[in-house]
Amino acid sequence: MNFAIAGAGFSGAVLARELAMDGHQVTVFESRDHLGGNCYTERDAETGVMVHRYGPHIFHTDDEKVWEYVNRFVDFMPYVNRVKATFKQNVYSLPINLHTINQFFGKAYGPKEAESHIHELADQTIDLPQSFEEQALKFVGRELYEAFFKGYTEKQWGISPKSLPASILKRLPLRFNYNDNYFNHKYQGIPKDGYTPIFEKLLDHQLIEIKLNTKFDQEGHTHFDHIFYTGPIDAWFGYAFGRLGYRTLDFKKEIHSGDYQGCAVMNYSDSDVPFTRISEHKHFAPWESHEKTIVFKEYSKACEPGDIPYYPIRLLDEKKMLHEYLVLAKKQDGVSFLGRLGTYRYLDMDVTVKEALEASKAVLSCIRSGKQI
Ligand code: UDP
Repeated sequence: MNFAIAGAGFSGAVLARELAMDGHQVTVFESRDHLGGNCYTERDAETGVMVHRYGPHIFHTDDEKVWEYVNRFVDFMPYVNRVKATFKQNVYSLPINLHTINQFFGKAYGPKEAESHIHELADQTIDLPQSFEEQALKFVGRELYEAFFKGYTEKQWGISPKSLPASILKRLPLRFNYNDNYFNHKYQGIPKDGYTPIFEKLLDHQLIEIKLNTKFDQEGHTHFDHIFYTGPIDAWFGYAFGRLGYRTLDFKKEIHSGDYQGCAVMNYSDSDVPFTRISEHKHFAPWESHEKTIVFKEYSKACEPGDIPYYPIRLLDEKKMLHEYLVLAKKQDGVSFLGRLGTYRYLDMDVTVKEALEASKAVLSCIRSGKQI
């Protein structure tokens, strides 16, 4: 069969590979001038540092099959994400762990004492937390909430944590030991030469044609048996119900000599610091060595037409609008919607790969049994 895939991020690239391996012709349309979507990495010309152009990407997963799959294409180096936070001129360890608690309260608690201290501070009157703020107050109490979550979250999302869903905070662990690994997953790493080679390798197949700088055109590209669309779902339908809300990021670049901050990611939770964090990209590749260093200050803002969408906001208004688009999408013959933008969900890379593998299996089984895709 002859397939079109719009988008060369993880969803599009994995799907293209799996379909081509089964003998199908695939054309991948990518509106940007490079592969990899927001996972794209490139070497900075001045410093030689591998830069994650759209912000830090650390691959982490519990899924052995996904880990094995991505490792087939490139070598991953072991990398543990350890994030620090600056608040009122002090530097703390994240996610909140025994070290953070002891630093913050000037104590030398053991795990049990720390746990009972946090239990005393946590707001026990909140039964079923609805908002981010309620979740945080129940989780760690007001002082730690105001230090590490309130300011950062207001900057990141542009609204009060009182209006954000509790689920956003549930991504973060709270630990009563000194484990400062930001993620709980079994497998974690960064590709030795950045992420771009994964996409080059996934798409390196004689049955795959790549068209960069080419937006998929619904009217012009009509000769395909099926279209897999990984772009924004609202754009496909011409924003018929309005624009789904996203946050976008602005990065301000600086080049320095030596080491700028001594770690890859420093979060800034003070609300009078305008950026959310500073990433120093050479620390994402500690197996390399560079004299100079490149850092990016990260500013979050509302996504306007023409900006690159990053974080789906998914508040009530958006959820209602998304539902309307999903109903239309279901009725649309010959098109499947996939990935972070195609389904308007905040997906980590491993989940995106997993879903793309599942989608390809489902498509190939439809083809074999003669069912409509
Ligand atoms: N967060 C925070 N302070 C921090 C780090 C995270 O308040 O120092 C909040 C923020 O609202 C963020 C959420 O916790 O959106 C989830 O954090 P995560 O690190 O998963 O953020 P993401 O990967 O979405 O950037």
